[in-house]
This record gives sequence, structure tokens and C-alpha cells, in this order.
Amino acid sequence: MLNKFKSIIRLVKSLDVDKVNALAQKIDFNEALSALDKLDDKQLKQMMKMLKGGDENNELPWIDGDFYNLHSTLPLEDRKVQMQVRDFMHQEVAPIINDYWRKDEFPKELIPKLAELDICGLTYQGYGCPGKSFLLEGFVAMEMAKTDTSISTFFGVQSGLCMGSIYLLGSEEQKEYWLPKLQKFEKIGAFGLTEPKVGSAVAGGLTTTVKKEGDSWILNGQKKWIGNATFSDIVIIYARDLDDGHVKGFIVETDTPGFKAEKIKDKMALRVVQNATITMENCKVPDSAKLEKANSFKDLAAVLRMTRASVAWQAVGCARGAYEYAVQYTHDRKQFGKSISSFQLIQDHLVTMLSNLTAMQNMCYRLSKMQDNGELKDEHASLAKVFCTLRTRDIVSTAREVMGGNGILLEYNVARFVADAEAIYSYEGTKEINSLIVGRAITGKSAFI
Ligand SMILES: Cc1cc2nc3c(=O)[nH]c(=O)nc-3n(C[C@H](O)[C@H](O)[C@H](O)COP(=O)(O)OP(=O)(O)OC[C@H]3O[C@@H](n4cnc5c(N)ncnc54)[C@H](O)[C@@H]3O)c2cc1C
Repeated sequence: MLNKFKSIIRLVKSLDVDKVNALAQKIDFNEALSALDKLDDKQLKQMMKMLKGGDENNELPWIDGDFYNLHSTLPLEDRKVQMQVRDFMHQEVAPIINDYWRKDEFPKELIPKLAELDICGLTYQGYGCPGKSFLLEGFVAMEMAKTDTSISTFFGVQSGLCMGSIYLLGSEEQKEYWLPKLQKFEKIGAFGLTEPKVGSAVAGGLTTTVKKEGDSWILNGQKKWIGNATFSDIVIIYARDLDDGHVKGFIVETDTPGFKAEKIKDKMALRVVQNATITMENCKVPDSAKLEKANSFKDLAAVLRMTRASVAWQAVGCARGAYEYAVQYTHDRKQFGKSISSFQLIQDHLVTMLSNLTAMQNMCYRLSKMQDNGELKDEHASLAKVFCTLRTRDIVSTAREVMGGNGILLEYNVARFVADAEAIYSYEGTKEINSLIVGRAITGKSAFI
């Protein structure tokens, strides 16, 4: 106790009381202290460096992949949300994620903490959802993927694909019942469209069937790659109606008899995301499970349009994470007696990465603005998805390159980004399929078949 008292006296003596008074007029000290308290040692060190204008020799600038300060376009309250997501990812996810990636498991203990952020279903109005902008949603997707692409994918499936299907295509009763539970992560959702033999061709070729029998619908068939489905409570299943040939959507509870989800093992990318192969054998769901407005593939396309924009932002995050780790590494790594960041060829790599990253971010910024203005078309989302995931592959691979051999070690993080970039490159429409959507828009000719 005496020692504590002595340190307080020492601290008070070392303070310039006038400066403290002047500062107290400008900032809330308690809030500032609790914000500082949340930073880890590395962040504190970086912040002190920044306050001093660099390191002791004024050499090292702050590492920031948002080179054109796009975050400054967010309103202050949204910027706060972005920072809360960043804190969560740094404090809760970063320390454990490589271990889960290695084990091929999902850290379920994160779910209640993720729920506390109150960011699920971020753009939806009502039903317990925050009703924020698509721009903020983009920043959130980027911020998550910047630390880990698997967690942002888990979130994207829950908040975008699953909740989005219900929000855009569900009845009022379905929205009122499911959305608040999914928003709070009391229930976990998944989205089942792809099949073992039908991936890119889902628009015309779904083989999973559904048939109306009295007040029920009977589902038969298989789905592949369904994220979160090994432990989700519901899966949105899209199936072809045997009576009219159209694609319809259903909220299927995973404990329904005839429904089985089996984990896909040995993935080399997004290992933390739990993907499943689903088999439905005479899986009977009530009429109330049918999504009221999901009556053709066109209806479902509205969901994909919305979520593809988020995948483009995820690609920005994946690329930005790899870039920022790589810049730090080039400072820390010394060869020929110098940090490798002082070599021209290394700087050229960093600049190439940053140029692509900056182009991607600005493209996504405009994309979200169009989404917020209700101007987004399929081809806009597809172009951003193609461009950003393609450039992300380049960026993560260059990040790995500047890290030499350590670039392939999990403990240096970039190897995880390299692997995960492959999955986001393929899901929600491959490069070829999204290019065909853009190609159709600019030529007026469909070249899918
Ligand atoms: C990690 C991961 C998570 C996923 N999560 C989900 C999920 O939660 N829910 C879900 O429903 N799906 C999910 N998917 C599935 C994903 O959307 C599909 O993998 C994707 O649409 C591609 O389908 P495919 O893998 O069957 O490839 P295929 O369709 O077999 O394509 C193989 C190749 O052929 C090319 N190709 C196909 N058609 C054409 C054409 N007309 N012209 C030129 N080239 C063509 C493709 O571009 C690709 O290069 C996930 C996939 C992955 C890898």
C-alpha cells in the first residue's frame, strides 16, 4: 500500500499540472485512459512512436494501408464502430487465430464477444438491426479480414448471406422471428446454394429438388461448401421446385429429420471456417419455412449482389493485413547490415502492393456509396469482386515474397493470408463468372454458355 502511495506521489510530481489542466479542457481523460488501457504493448509502442513523429531517430512512419485516409470519410460514430471492431480483432482474434487455423476448428468462444459489438445485420432497418450504411459495413468487413479472413467469412455468412436472404426475401413473420435472434448470435445461420456437381451453373442447374405436399415441402439433394453449417441452427436452402421448375428458398432447421451436415476436412484455405456437405433425404419442412419472396433465381440474385460487395471489401482487408505485416517485417529484418526496407527493390514491391491496395479501397468506397444510394447493379458488384480478389492474390504473394522463407511460416501470419485469398477468389462467383456478368453488361451479349 505504501509503495502504491509512493508511486502515485512520484507520478503526480512528474506531471506538468498546467498542461494537464489545459488538456482536460479538450479531452475526456477517463475516456482517453480507458482507450489507452485497451491497447496492447505493440500498439502502445507504435502510438508513442507516432506521437514523437517516428522512432527515436524519427525514421519509421506509422504503418497504415489506408494511404488516402478513406476512413476519414466515415462519420465519427461510424469511425468508433470501426475502431471497436479493430480492437476486438487485435485483442481477441489475433492471439488465437493461427492455432485454430492449424487445428482446423472454429473458436466458438468468440461468438458472445462478437455479439457485444452489435454489428450483425448492420445495414438492415428494424428487427433489432442497427440500420447503418453499406459504407460502414464495408469498413467492418475490411477491418475483420485485415486480421483474419475466416472470421470475416463466418460473419459474412451469418450477417450477409443468411440474414440477407431472410431480410430481402422473407415474410414479415419470418423476419420478426429470425432476424433478432441471428442479430444477437443466439442462433447461427448458413446459406446453402452450391452443390457437389453444380457450382458456377447454379442459376440454371440446381439439382436439389423441392415438392409441395399439403402444408409441407419435401427437400431432396445435396449441398457442398456450406459455411458454418457444421454447427448452425438453420441453413437457407435453395432448391428447384419440381412443379414449376423455379428456384425457391427455405429456412431449414438443422435438427429436421432427413437433414445431415458433414464437415469438409483438410481444406488448405479458410481453415477456421467450418464448411459442410449437406445431404437432405425427404427432409420435410412446414410451409412457414418457405421464404415468401424467394420464387426464382432472380430473387436470390439480389442477395448475392449485396454480399458480393462485402466480399470485395473482405479482399481489401486480406490484402491490407498482408501488406501491413510485410512492411513491419521489412523494418525488422536485417540483411547486409541494414533493414531490408532500405533496399530499393523491396520498396518497389511495397509501393506496388500499396498502389493496388489503394485502387481497391477507392473502388470499394465508390461501390458502397452506390449501394447506399440504391444505384448498385450486379455488374458493379461483380467488377469489384473480380478486381479486388485478383489484386489481393498479387498483394499477398508479394507480401510473402518480401518475407523470404519466413513468409511461408504460419507464425508470421502472411502465409495464412496467402492461403485464404484463394478461397475468397473462388467463392461468391469465380473470376470467370463475375467477368461474364460484367462482360454481358458492357457488350449486351451473354457468353455464359
Ligand atoms: C471456402 C469456400 C466457402 C464457400 N462457402 C459457400 C457457402 O457458404 N454457401 C454456398 O452455397 N457456396 C459456398 N461456396 C461455393 C462457391 O460459391 C463455389 O465454389 C463457386 O461458386 C465455384 O463453384 P465450383 O467450386 O463448383 O467451381 P466450378 O463451377 O466447377 O468451376 C470450375 C472452373 O470453371 C470455370 N467456369 C465455370 N463455368 C464457366 C463458364 N461458363 N465460362 C468460363 N469458365 C467457367 C470457373 O470459373 C472455375 O474456374 C464456398 C466455396 C469455398 C471454396
